[in-house]
Amino acid sequence: MYAYGPVPSRRLGRSLGVSPIPPKTCSYNCIYCQLGQTGRVQVRRESFYPKEDILSDIGKAVKVINSANIDYITFVGDGEPTLCKDLGWLIGKCKQQWQIPVAVITNGSLLFMKDVRQDLESSDVVLPTLDAGSEDVFRTLNRPHGSIGFEEMLQGQVDFRKEYSGKIWLEVMLVKDVNDSDKSLMEINDAIKQVKPDRIYISVPIRPPAKPGVRPPEPGRIIRAHEIFGTILDLTDYESGEFGFDNYPDARTAITEICSRHPLREEQARDIELRFSESGNIDSMLSDGSLVRVEYQNMPYLLPAKFIGILSK
Ligand code: SF4
Repeated sequence: MYAYGPVPSRRLGRSLGVSPIPPKTCSYNCIYCQLGQTGRVQVRRESFYPKEDILSDIGKAVKVINSANIDYITFVGDGEPTLCKDLGWLIGKCKQQWQIPVAVITNGSLLFMKDVRQDLESSDVVLPTLDAGSEDVFRTLNRPHGSIGFEEMLQGQVDFRKEYSGKIWLEVMLVKDVNDSDKSLMEINDAIKQVKPDRIYISVPIRPPAKPGVRPPEPGRIIRAHEIFGTILDLTDYESGEFGFDNYPDARTAITEICSRHPLREEQARDIELRFSESGNIDSMLSDGSLVRVEYQNMPYLLPAKFIGILSK
């Protein structure tokens, strides 16, 4: 399945996620990534799957869920969605076929490519990431493909702002002792001022990260980020809201599909099971090893077993 959810999104409401790329295909290998390590960091854009199949899957999901229950169709991917060469075609078709706004969640690293900027033109909102204001923090935190430099990445976001008429909602992920010092926050703020986004969100790692030892900043550093960045919206708490299940035949499929893109707190997974009036699925998936329980910040999460081999290397 290419389309999943809708998942409750703190920024986008009921968001029908669409992943047009294979699992964990990305131009970055962020230390905080909730999807584990990037096996092969890449910048080459590809048609990974037939674009007609992706569109048809979105169509089926919209029909089952009902467009009135979807706030955004969101291209997000299990990695970096702009690596999909067909993204512009897919966005255009979605806009033609349904009266649902289209959002793209991207790490922003490929916006220096003209074809990527053109592909995003007809979307309504683009949500890029900008976690660093210097080359060294960029390399430490995002661990980009060797061909992407900080200045080039930033210039791509600046150029995109000049050309794009939709909304840009920038997200800054803050990690303890990596980018939460006054110096780092001020450098990030200088970069943000160049991009001129419509909104700025800050977030912190709330799910098990790719690299051990990655932690959210102390509350005082979050307050300092508010002081330095000015008007920002805070995503540092846990998300709430309900997942959409109409597109899934049973609890096991729903939990597997959602967990693969959006690791679930155990309480969320058990809630999904109850919604299907089923029981025993989660326990049997934990027993047969297809799901693994991982503690992060004193909270139990359920991750697909395939993540564990690529976590914490
Ligand atoms: S957090 Fe996003 S950009 Fe970073 S490695 Fe994971 S999928 Fe890629």
